[in-house]
Amino acid sequence: MSIDVSRFRVPEGKRVDLKKWPTKVKPFYESREHYRLLLADHVDKLAQRQDLLYAHDRYALLVIFQAMDAAGKDSVIKHVMSGINPQGCKVFSFKAPTSDDLDHDYLWRCMKVLPNRGEIGIFNRSYYEEVLVVKVHPEYLGAQRLPPGKVDKAFWERRYKTIRGFERHLARNGTMILKFFLNVSKEEQKKQFLERIDDPAKNWKFSSADVKERAHWKEYMDAYQSMIRATSAPHAPWYVVPADNKWYTRIVVAAAIIDALESLDLHYPPIDKAKLGELAASKKALLAERK
Ligand code: ATP
Ligand code: MG
Repeated sequence: MSIDVSRFRVPEGKRVDLKKWPTKVKPFYESREHYRLLLADHVDKLAQRQDLLYAHDRYALLVIFQAMDAAGKDSVIKHVMSGINPQGCKVFSFKAPTSDDLDHDYLWRCMKVLPNRGEIGIFNRSYYEEVLVVKVHPEYLGAQRLPPGKVDKAFWERRYKTIRGFERHLARNGTMILKFFLNVSKEEQKKQFLERIDDPAKNWKFSSADVKERAHWKEYMDAYQSMIRATSAPHAPWYVVPADNKWYTRIVVAAAIIDALESLDLHYPPIDKAKLGELAASKKALLAERK
């Protein structure tokens, strides 16, 4: 079954009103069993494509996840990437910046862990926090010790422009970029927080600071809208994925990554005459070995 994820992709420059983007839609699957089969099929396809990406060794894939707390970033990463060869895939989670991070520009900590050619790099949060949490809490800029200047609309526009330029540069040099905003509703977030409180196995995930942050929901949505509009591009599209139903989110994310990898002309390195000769000679030698 092939799934059309284009309706979740944001065209370049499109104004985004998140109130109109669904957090929940009718699923593609009819039962838990059907979902499992569908996910397994996607994971399998993804693993095959990753193998080719690695062997081809020309392109890298950067996958970025951004979302409100408890939208399911971790579980999407866990399930969608479950079939992938760990050798060709690295995951990085970006928390509040360390003092070392703050001694550099805000792209630095992400730049130094970008995926190598042939690899998939997954960013659980990213430099986009710099136009999200930092925009909602501009007081965080104090710790960044930037040159003096006004923090006005133009300041954030410059950050969008920097990110656009950075991603264009990466794309021109062989890194494909996919960005997912897991669009969870405020109601569903509440449900997830209550689960973290009630389930002893999830208590460790709970932070009362996350609950306080709900008071800024509208500011976050505004920041997300502006950011997505300013930075969605054909070479680095944003997908706004309904995230109230985690099974659905996983299938959409997997399908979008497969589509992107299929759009690349990936192939195993060609084998020339000399190599064919080497293979034949080695086979002969191996078969002739005495037991
Ligand atoms: P979960 O969804 O399970 O809560 P998480 O990704 O929120 O996982 P946490 O350790 O809870 O992980 O939170 C990371 C925190 O770091 C977030 O609140 C995020 O806003 C913050 N953060 C990330 N990057 C920056 C940044 N550049 N400046 C300030 N805060 C940041
Ligand atoms: Mg958190």
